Amino acid sequence: MDLSQTHHFAPATSLKTALESRVERFFALRSRHADARIYIKSAILLAWFGVSYYALVFRASTFGEGLAAAVSLGLATAGIGFNIQHDGNHGSFSKHRWVNRLAGSTMDLLGGSSYLWIQKHNLAHHTYTNIPQSDEDIEIHPLGRLAPDDPYYAFHRYQHLYLWLIYALLPAQLHFYNDFRKLWTGKISSRKFPRPRGMALANLVAWKLVFVAWAFVIPCFYHRVWVVAAFYFLTTGVMGVVLSVVFQLAHSVEEVEHPSLGEEIQSEWVRHQIQTTAEFARANRLVTWYLGGLNFQTTHHLFPKVCHIHYPRLSRIIEKVCRQHGVEYRTQPSLGSAIRSHYRFLRRLAAPPTANLPAATDEAVF
Ligand SMILES: [Zn+2]
Repeated sequence: MDLSQTHHFAPATSLKTALESRVERFFALRSRHADARIYIKSAILLAWFGVSYYALVFRASTFGEGLAAAVSLGLATAGIGFNIQHDGNHGSFSKHRWVNRLAGSTMDLLGGSSYLWIQKHNLAHHTYTNIPQSDEDIEIHPLGRLAPDDPYYAFHRYQHLYLWLIYALLPAQLHFYNDFRKLWTGKISSRKFPRPRGMALANLVAWKLVFVAWAFVIPCFYHRVWVVAAFYFLTTGVMGVVLSVVFQLAHSVEEVEHPSLGEEIQSEWVRHQIQTTAEFARANRLVTWYLGGLNFQTTHHLFPKVCHIHYPRLSRIIEKVCRQHGVEYRTQPSLGSAIRSHYRFLRRLAAPPTANLPAATDEAVF
């Protein structure tokens, strides 16, 4: 089913004009891109990654040392994803295209594909946020239900307990299945996308080989194959849980809206982004630093071409404009409260849809 012709957002209103003019005013005297802070942060994250990899592959000699290095490598990898590849692939890292491409290519280095990410994330997710069969980020079915219209299976009643483990497996699924499925089918979610050809395809394949080389071939010179495989799953497991949970806290929480499949989108695009996205822990500097501003996702969705170092100040401007226009700005005060909201959201969708309930059954299991 190709929905590309079916989602038409309502015409823009004064909300969009007000947001744009306030943000334009903010950037009248400063660049939208990064300053020295993001280059320093990038150097720290890449060094953290390099040291962790060195420790894991060349130094660790006990399980405990390996575990510590794998957790460290997983956290460093997620940090690179949040801070370097995400801004780079949005073109917000620098005013220079080659710098953005270099930053974006960390996605390829880490086993993904910047080409496919731009199609999936920048075009599909950022345009059709939380819309079933268009936004792949809410598609985890049949393993779980992140959209109210997803078909229900009995084992979903435990999804708020087991999905956290499924998150740990998502990087391996991306490395060895999802990217290749997209190339094979030419589709992201239900939408067709232009498959890479020529140099773009050669580039994608070459990077996949580079990833296999550093993640598997080199470690296999120093360790047994099963040890390499086990630590691959440990490292990517840490990375997967951190990446998935952070992205879920923006769109799969109680505060935001989840349009039904086929439901006519009544809102203008800007309002739709605000209704389907939430922020959290905006006052927590450590969270903001490590997450590359992805605790400010409403701000990011409205202005994805702005470097994340500006999000804390932009967020306050956007919240004020929303208040003036009577639009609810959705936010959670802390990381913990956002995680609890995601848990409650998963638990809500773990209950059978009311229409499917047998008569006289009270599914008050939770
Ligand atoms: Zn984004």
